[in-house]
Amino acid sequence: TAEADRDDTIIFRSGLPDIPISNHLPLHTYCFENLPSFSDHRCLISGPTGQTFTFAETHLLCRKTAAGLSKLGVKRGDVILILLQNSPEFVFTFMAASFLGAATTTANPFFTPSEIYKQFKASGAKLVVTQSLYVDKLRDVSASFPPIGGDGLTVITTDENLLEGCLSFSTLLNSDETEIPRVTIDQDDAVAMPFSSGTTGLPKGVVLTHKSLVSSVAQQVDGENPNLHLKPDDVVLCVLPMFHIFSLNSVLLCSLRAGSAVLIMPKFEIGAMLELIERHKVTVAAVVPPLVLALAKSPMVGKYDLSSIRIMHSGAAPLGKEVEQALHRRLPHAVFGQGYGMTEAGPVLSMCPAFAKQPVAAKSGSCGMVVRNAELKVIDPETGLSLGRNKPGEICIRGPQIMKGYLNDPEATASTIDVEGWLHTGDIGYVDDDDEVFIVDRMKELIKFKGFQVPPAELEALLISHSSIADAAVVPQKDDVAEEVPVAFVVRAKDSDISEEAIKEFIAKQVVFYKRLHRVYFINAIPKSPSGKILRKDLRAKLATTSS
Ligand code: ATP
Ligand code: MG
Repeated sequence: TAEADRDDTIIFRSGLPDIPISNHLPLHTYCFENLPSFSDHRCLISGPTGQTFTFAETHLLCRKTAAGLSKLGVKRGDVILILLQNSPEFVFTFMAASFLGAATTTANPFFTPSEIYKQFKASGAKLVVTQSLYVDKLRDVSASFPPIGGDGLTVITTDENLLEGCLSFSTLLNSDETEIPRVTIDQDDAVAMPFSSGTTGLPKGVVLTHKSLVSSVAQQVDGENPNLHLKPDDVVLCVLPMFHIFSLNSVLLCSLRAGSAVLIMPKFEIGAMLELIERHKVTVAAVVPPLVLALAKSPMVGKYDLSSIRIMHSGAAPLGKEVEQALHRRLPHAVFGQGYGMTEAGPVLSMCPAFAKQPVAAKSGSCGMVVRNAELKVIDPETGLSLGRNKPGEICIRGPQIMKGYLNDPEATASTIDVEGWLHTGDIGYVDDDDEVFIVDRMKELIKFKGFQVPPAELEALLISHSSIADAAVVPQKDDVAEEVPVAFVVRAKDSDISEEAIKEFIAKQVVFYKRLHRVYFINAIPKSPSGKILRKDLRAKLATTSS
């Protein structure tokens, strides 16, 4: 629904009514609030080992971990760095920090030592939970971590291989849960400090409070008609990295709250994933576009029974209608839809209404409706004035779920969240007649051809719909006449020898003149971030060095 504010701002709200949100509660209290009604249900399932933990066991192990961390000196206001692949210990550590009033910053284990160090330094972390495999990174000369052990850096490793100076996670798990100190937690205390994906520049540290995350989870799974209807008998696939907020929030925290089991996979490998989906009868799968592409194109998909999947939920990057439809043909039983998120927004801004308890069909390509208890507006990037339906502009969001601010960067915070509390996303999109949000592309990534704007995501969607194209990315190339022209990087499908001319013609037939491709470069793989985004900045850099 849309309504005009007192000052004539056009504001879009969810079609679902607002709900009461218990965002005065600390995150752990909120997530485990309904536990008595499903305490003996499965909560965590480890994909590789098959080990399962019930809700009661998970709750207990989170508290034991908290008691153990407290013994090591972790207290309210402290920060813990998690450098882990998805694992039960990731969950125990994250929730344990919440119990203590501490916050967690989650880093990608594939980062270089200096990237990890930057995040460690920026977040002020005092303890690291990791795998023995990554300890060398904390000792690397290219970073300045304090020496491990003794009075230096406390490093806890989750596996059997105990290295010099490190402590074993099992010590935490053997702690006495009754020894968790009493702490007063304020709803505005930080509980998570995820970093944005670093798609457009350096990753930015984002401060999410108890209030932000409780609100965001509630907006998805609470109420009589939850927007994302997770049930206690659901098995939710957790293959996306929990160090990224999409998986941490919409998969882990939402499942804990709703009583669904989480099937944890440490990394993506298509065969292993399909096998686990079949074996554990996964019902809800959270995915990102590269994974959708793999599912839509991989011949392995036909060999497994994936009929248990009832919801397939894609987010984090634009997804073309063509791939979506190709996947739908392979998984006709599943409802396929998208959510739209941004780390700074807590992260979910909008969610497919077909995932609701009382589902409403969504259009292909839409990112659903704005979440409940929040306001969304679309503004003209030039004038800042709000726009009505079907007019693309910058999407802004306001509500209790958005970040407190960027980590140690009041200037960046002030230029992102304005005085009225609106978070400016930098994404171009519009709201249609049925309240559905469509993302066109990022403002920063629109290609400027003479005065016209070309959204690369649109051309990429067309390219990958071609059976001879396995993957593609579009970037601007400098041009004397047009300022910028769109050019494509294309990965040919196996055994295809499709030519540059054929690809240019394929696109030219489908788009207005200014969106035509000027060059096609063949490449072996499109660079992507672990959260599923095309790293166009890497391709632009490649262009700058290859062309002259
Ligand atoms: P950085 O801000 O560091 O450059 P990032 O913006 O990619 O990285 P995230 O917070 O992980 O970091 O991603 C948020 C962005 O992802 C959004 O601003 C939007 O551009 C994009 N996005 C998320 N969901 C969707 C979606 N369903 N469709 C299109 N784009 C999406
Ligand atoms: Mg961003």
